[in-house]
Amino acid sequence: MAYPTQPTASHYINGAYVEDQTGDEIPVIYPATGDRIGLVHAGTPAIVDQAIAAAKAAQPAWAALSPRERGRILTRAAQIMRERNYDLSVLETHDTGKPLQETLVADATSGADALEYFGGLAGTLTGEHIPLGEDWAYTIREALGVCVGIGAWNYPTQIACWKGAPALACGNTMVFKPSETTPLCALKVAEILTEAGAPPGVFNVVQGMGQTGAQLVTDPRVAKVSLTGSAATGKKVYAAAAAEMKHVTMELGGKSPMIVFEDADIENAIGGAILGNFYSSGQICSNGTRVFVHRAIKEHFLTRLAERLATARIGDPMDEKTSFGPMVSQAQMNIVLRYIDIAKTEGARLVAGGQRIDRDGFYIEPTVFADVTDDMTIAREEIFGPVMSVLDFEDEDEVIARANATEYGLSAGVFTRDLSRGHRVIGGLQAGSCFINSYNDAPVEAPFGGVKASGVGRENARAAIEHYSQLKSVYVRMGDVEAPF
Ligand code: NAP
Repeated sequence: MAYPTQPTASHYINGAYVEDQTGDEIPVIYPATGDRIGLVHAGTPAIVDQAIAAAKAAQPAWAALSPRERGRILTRAAQIMRERNYDLSVLETHDTGKPLQETLVADATSGADALEYFGGLAGTLTGEHIPLGEDWAYTIREALGVCVGIGAWNYPTQIACWKGAPALACGNTMVFKPSETTPLCALKVAEILTEAGAPPGVFNVVQGMGQTGAQLVTDPRVAKVSLTGSAATGKKVYAAAAAEMKHVTMELGGKSPMIVFEDADIENAIGGAILGNFYSSGQICSNGTRVFVHRAIKEHFLTRLAERLATARIGDPMDEKTSFGPMVSQAQMNIVLRYIDIAKTEGARLVAGGQRIDRDGFYIEPTVFADVTDDMTIAREEIFGPVMSVLDFEDEDEVIARANATEYGLSAGVFTRDLSRGHRVIGGLQAGSCFINSYNDAPVEAPFGGVKASGVGRENARAAIEHYSQLKSVYVRMGDVEAPF
């Protein structure tokens, strides 16, 4: 293979790579060329069983370590990830096709941020003392047990760390299933955790398709499931977990609004719209794909947007000057091209892009449609590709109502110089992760997650701790027990 730090087998179980060639073949395709650069095998039921058994066996001793010791291991893993950032970024680029310019700053680095943050937090996780007069109660924050993490393909390193770091900090163990489209990066996270001192079985990786995920979710030894994926998959996984009353975190899709008022700094608003539609070739759940632009500035906005898009460097993701790469797969490219056709048929005005790029790999031009109306398919459905819809508006109340008229509620952004209006509008928007005069920042210190069909639970920040631990409360009577008879 043409990249370093190649994982040496399909799965990672009990502190070591494991191969089982009887599982279905999953080819690893480099999106920039379409070439096959590797092969892994899906986890058979025996492999899934082995991984859950390893996680189950390792959990009590891991939970019994002092939280600071667990934290130290996570922090050490963060340091290793930072030291190997270049190689891990090259691997991420080969797994996903995202330009090295992005992966060097957004993937292993944000994974390391999560390991460092939750590593630091581990020693601070406590219960509380509750005075009740003469008596008192206290709470103990306990681990849930074995957690399953299931990832999407857009941020394979980050997703593994966003789930693994808080789970492990709280004393849980994890079995992680990456997307079949990007199977490589999570294996390196597992390898690094072992190197940092995580005992065997604490963090395991099993490859596979949805079927493997379903087997993990329904296993009675699993206490919690955290999924990053589409809303359709989320509904299935949530229902399967609910059947056995398991805890869940659901990080799902979106059709998020970005609202640009007439007083906005227009270059910053265009910068936000570019980040929120074309970073990672538009394959980001929180993207602001419905850009509502005030009618007074719409044409200026579109002209400058097209000028700035013309400066995108589209090409080889391994060239650090490249700022826009391919879609993750042929299948995803075809989905996006279909949406572009539908938009044209339904009468949206093509302002930029709109074509597959004539070269190897799965490239689509950064695409902008204007005069999009709320009822058009591209304004209602998540596309998950580089397609921006620009919609007009005139009135604040009107735009809030239209922005909220979606089943989703992951993110929302507002660009305005009027700070009262900025806060007022964000207050009225139904979304979990919001931005004022910015877009798509996701620091580990701030909670991340959606409302409505975009999910339940939160990742990152202290909020994630609530989703990877449970409270035991203990009443302590200091005097005699008064019974009626
Ligand atoms: P997906 O098709 O929903 O798949 C997500 C993961 O679930 C994959 O690992 C998939 O396996 C697995 N899976 C599928 N069916 C399953 C089942 N019945 N039981 C258990 N697991 C199952 O999503 P995707 O196409 O990979 O990713 C794109 C989607 O993810 C978009 O909707 C995007 O918005 C969302 N996303 C959300 C966030 C967030 O934080 N909110 C972040 C990134 C992406 P296979 O694919 O290998 O079959």
